[in-house]
This record gives sequence, structure tokens and C-alpha cells, in this order.
Amino acid sequence: MMDDQVNEPREESDKATISTKGNPACGRCHLLVARYAPQVIASSGVYHKECFEAWYFSRYGKRPKLRQGNGSDRHRFQVVEPSSK
Ligand SMILES: [Zn+2]
Repeated sequence: MMDDQVNEPREESDKATISTKGNPACGRCHLLVARYAPQVIASSGVYHKECFEAWYFSRYGKRPKLRQGNGSDRHRFQVVEPSSK
């Protein structure tokens, strides 16, 4: 026999987990990107570096070219657009 899960009307306090404290949420997995985690700053938002690479690879079939930041921004990467020729 199957017990369907009862949909209890939960209080939706969970849905406001999206950061308002300065830490952005990853554009792919929607988890917060820790301040010093390796991350990619793209025009469409911020991604975990691993998330971005996985997404990029699944879309373009190759790894993205990322440029690492300097100094205190070494955990930040920017996409090197391939269309610059
Ligand atoms: Zn992510």
C-alpha cells in the first residue's frame, strides 16, 4: 500500500534562505557561495567554480577559460570570453 505524503501547510519561513547578508547564491545550485570559496563572477551572476565549470562543460563541451584574480581576489575568477578575436 502506498501512503501519499500529506501536504501539510508548512510555514514558509524556509524560502527566504536566499542571502541578504552579502554572500551571493550560486546561480546554478542556489547554495550560498562562501566569501572565500573559489567562485566565478559571470555577467549572469556568481557561481561556485565547480558549478560553473560543470555547467559550461555541459553546454559548450569544453572547459571555460577563467582568469584568476590578484591578491585578495585570488579565489575569484572571471570568464575569458572566447569571442574576443
Ligand atoms: Zn553552486
